[in-house]
Amino acid sequence: MEKVYYTTEDVDRSHKRYRVCKNKGNDCHKAEFMARHGSAKFCTDECNNKFSNQEKKLFKEGNSIPRTSNINKLRVLMQDKNVVTFTRKEIDDVGIDLLKYDHRYLDDIRRSCFGVWIGNFNITMREKNEIIIRTKIYKNEK
Ligand SMILES: [Zn+2]
Repeated sequence: MEKVYYTTEDVDRSHKRYRVCKNKGNDCHKAEFMARHGSAKFCTDECNNKFSNQEKKLFKEGNSIPRTSNINKLRVLMQDKNVVTFTRKEIDDVGIDLLKYDHRYLDDIRRSCFGVWIGNFNITMREKNEIIIRTKIYKNEK
């Protein structure tokens, strides 16, 4: 039996268990649903699998658009984690181009550190070689 993460309730967009399946638009069963558990990101296990397979594929093939390519690579790097620290080499090795950002800002005025946003990912550099990537969700909760 396929694992299903939604309930049979009517969809209530104002409810905290209301979700849009992360795999929406990629042969998804139920794009909008009421989650059984707070952590559900996909309507079904099948959607979860399809989504990660597609990400792997995109990662392998690369992408001609640098921003999209960056976002796809960041997603793969981050998996389901909300905050991860990498070295500059690790970032360079997967081919993330940190100059292709959406927005740059001063993160630490004292040390004149800059942070950038690429899609929903926040990237800051600490020390010389430590790159911290946080998801938008993580950044907003802290
Ligand atoms: Zn789905």
